[in-house]
Order: sequence, then C-alpha cells, then structure tokens
Amino acid sequence: MRLLVTGAAGFLGSHLCERLLNDGHEVIGLDNLYTGRRRNLASFSTRDEFTFLLHDVTFPIYLEVDGIFNLACPASPIHYQRNPVQTIKTSVHGAINLLGLAKRTGAKFLQASTSEIYGDPTCSPQEESYWGNVNPIGPRACYDEGKRAAETLTTDYSRQYGLDVRIARIFNTYGPRMAPNDGRVVSNFIVQALSGNPITIYGDGNQTRSFCHVDDLIDGLVRLFFHTTAPGPVNLGNPEEVSIRELAGEIISMTGSQSQIVSVDIPVDDPKQRRPDISKAEELLGWRPRISRSQGLSVTVDYFRDLSH
Ligand code: NAD
Ligand code: UDP
Ligand code: UDP
Repeated sequence: MRLLVTGAAGFLGSHLCERLLNDGHEVIGLDNLYTGRRRNLASFSTRDEFTFLLHDVTFPIYLEVDGIFNLACPASPIHYQRNPVQTIKTSVHGAINLLGLAKRTGAKFLQASTSEIYGDPTCSPQEESYWGNVNPIGPRACYDEGKRAAETLTTDYSRQYGLDVRIARIFNTYGPRMAPNDGRVVSNFIVQALSGNPITIYGDGNQTRSFCHVDDLIDGLVRLFFHTTAPGPVNLGNPEEVSIRELAGEIISMTGSQSQIVSVDIPVDDPKQRRPDISKAEELLGWRPRISRSQGLSVTVDYFRDLSH
C-alpha cells in the first residue's frame, strides 16, 4: 500500500515508517520538524520506497494514498506547552485536513490519540469506556482537548461519510530515538543518570505511569490498522504500573549512576495515576506487550550512551 505517516521524523513516527517499509509498503513521511529530527529518518530515508515531505498538517495537502497514520503533534509537555495555540491547531486543523484527504481518496485513517484524553483519571486501570477527567482550561488542555477533538472528528467523519477509521489511545511509550532534550521522564532520567546530573523528580514521585517499549507499541498500531475492521478506540500500552520514584531507582541502579535525586515542583494538573486496561487490544488484535521494563530500559540506556560518545 501507499501510506502517509504524519509526524514521521518524531520518535514514534520514525519507528512506524521503518516498520511499514520493512513490511513492503511505500511510505510518504511528512513532518514540519517542530520536535522531529531528520536523523531519526537516517536508517531508511534513502530507500526508494520512502519519500520525505516537509509540511505542516495545519495546512491542506493533496496526495494520492491508500492509508494515513496521523501522528503529527508534539507529545512532551514542555514542547506542547511552548506554543499551546499551535498544539491545538495541529490536532484539530491537522485532523480535519487529513480526514478531508482520507475522504477524497478513500484512504483508511488512523488517529494517534493518547491516554491523556482520560486526564487525571478517577478510576484505575483506565478502560476505553471511561470518559475522562480533563481540565479544559489548564496548561495541558491544548494537548488533551486537541486530542479529544481529533477523536470526535475521526468518529464523525466515519459516521457522516463512511470513512474507514481507527483510534489508538497510546499510553506512555519510550525507547531509542527519543531526543535527549525531549523532556519526558524516561529520557530525562537516563540523560541525567548518564551525565551524573541530579535526577529531577516532580512532586513526591508517588504518581504512577505505565511504560511501553516502542517496538511493542508499533506492533500494536500496525495490528490495529491492518488486522481488524474495528474502529476502536483501543488502548495500547503496557499495564505494568510503576511510581516515578521507583523508576528513578531502577534507572540509577541500571546505569550505576552517582546522581542524586532532587525534588522539583509538580506541574499543574499532572495526572496522579495511569494504567491501561488492554483487554480490548488483547481480544481484537491478539496483542499484548512482550518487552519488560528492564529489557526496554536497558536498550534505551545503550542508545543514550551511544549518543553521548
Ligand atoms: P514526537 O514529538 O517525537 O513526534 C511528533 C512529530 O510530529 C515530530 O516529528 C514533530 O516535528 C511533528 N509535528 C508536530 N507538529 C506538526 C505539524 N503541525 N505538522 C507536521 N508535523 C508536526 O512525539 P512522539 O512521542 O513520537 O508522538 C507521536 C504521536 O503519538 C503524537 O501524536 C503523540 O500525541 C502520540 N502519543 C505518543 C505517546 C508517547 O508516549 N510517545 C503517548 C501518547 C500519544
Ligand atoms: N483537504 C486536504 N486534502 C485533500 C482534501 C481535503 O488537505 O485531499 C482539506 C481541505 O482543506 C478541507 C479539509 O481537508 O478544508 C476538510 O475536507 P472536507 O472535504 O471534509 O471539507 P470541505 O472541503 O467540504 O470543507
Ligand atoms: N516527571 C518527573 N521528572 C522529569 C520528567 C517528568 O518526575 O524530569 C514526571 C511527571 O511529573 C509525570 C511523569 O514523570 O508525573 C511522566 O511525565 P512525562 O512528561 O514523561 O509524561 P506524561 O506526564 O505526559 O505522562
């Protein structure tokens, strides 16, 4: 198939492009390089079946494709909060333009949504039927509400125009190709541990997250796109929950670091807990994560070690 991946030069997008090329597809990778980097494309950008397009999804785009994976959007709080208006425009105008493209071409469409649509959840684990607890005017809203609107648009284009759509609710994912200055917790802690700088825990560190290795996540996205006709939404993530303080301890011991732990103010509206219920993904896709946190973190530590040399 001829597939368009938006956000292609980012962390997840670049892994997805590579997987789709390896599966024999032709891939057009689109990105405005806001948080993405050309070096993420290096291992496959010269392949004949790959084309890179420098473009911003908030503007219309006319192409002929069979499928669209819409991943364009900064995902780290420090990046999506730097220009919040652009963030919500990216999710909303981006979804409208790409759904318009899917409507015109008849392409299948996958929207990369997020566990953030659950906000600061009042139940755990989070099932797809939970409607969430999002502050619509807080500093995270540009991301959370943008992604919620993108889910609404995806669903309404499907209901109104019969588009073949998928919604993936992605939970915290980590791995090689995260930028050292990404700002999310796994990359921050590893970079800090390797450089001997203080490990910055926001708040008391008792808040929890559930971390999925990128290879597992990409396999889930591919299965959702190709191996089911169900639109979702489907949670994709690793249900192993860990506190941020425990994560810091794991990374310190894995790297043999001398770094001290320091406490920093907790950001406003930081969710206290997050863990996916993945029964739907297991049933529909025969999918569950295979890579343990210790295996995945060890590969990621190696990647950041290589970068620093
Ligand atoms: P990332 O920041 O590494 O990648 C996002 C990419 O989108 C970047 O290459 C960036 O340059 C590009 N982009 C941003 N705005 C754009 C625009 N207006 N036009 C074109 N390109 C634009 O983040 P990521 O972790 O790879 O996330 C990819 C997608 O997955 C995002 O939509 C994110 O919301 C979603 N997601 C990721 C996670 C995670 O833990 N990694 C969790 C939930 C959801
Ligand atoms: N669009 C696009 N590429 C296409 C088709 C549409 O970028 O190949 C954009 C176009 O800018 C439009 C949006 O997608 O504003 C939504 O398309 P739709 O057909 O739903 O809306 P309409 O054109 O009827 O306003
Ligand atoms: N966090 C932290 N130190 C950091 C970066 C993040 O303690 O250097 C915390 C953050 O407050 C949150 C968790 O780690 O509770 C996950 O943050 P991240 O930005 O990775 O993702 P998100 O909050 O979007 O899940």
